[in-house]
Amino acid sequence: MDDCIFCKIVAGEIPSEKVLESENFIVVKDAFPKLNGHSLVISKKHYDSFLDMPSELYEELLKTSKEATLKIVKEVGAEGFNLVVNNGRVAGQIVPHVHWHILPRKKDDGFEFGV
Ligand code: 5GP
Ligand code: ZN
Repeated sequence: MDDCIFCKIVAGEIPSEKVLESENFIVVKDAFPKLNGHSLVISKKHYDSFLDMPSELYEELLKTSKEATLKIVKEVGAEGFNLVVNNGRVAGQIVPHVHWHILPRKKDDGFEFGV
């Protein structure tokens, strides 16, 4: 996708701070972090949302997310974390390229997240 910022990150055309990489995903720090260590698990191939991504990639997505979360949680000394995926504008998805948020949490961090 020509105008997709995450495709540009994957292609190295937009600089990013890489946490780690697997065959089909990269994990980078969010450029506008809501919490210390806030990171994004991004598919290397463009899919508009989670529902467009083939199920064959689920296991790798989870493994990559787990590995990155372990690394980030240790790095920032978090006590917990949220894994969040926004799908569709109405649900807060700004970038239409599938990505999961890793949000490291600490007591009294002030972050409001409710389901
Ligand atoms: P969404 O709201 O689509 O789920 O989240 C998009 C995320 O991408 C936001 O948290 C935003 O801060 C992040 N973001 C937007 N532009 C860039 C960028 O150029 N680089 C990185 N690393 N993150 C970005
Ligand atoms: Zn894209």
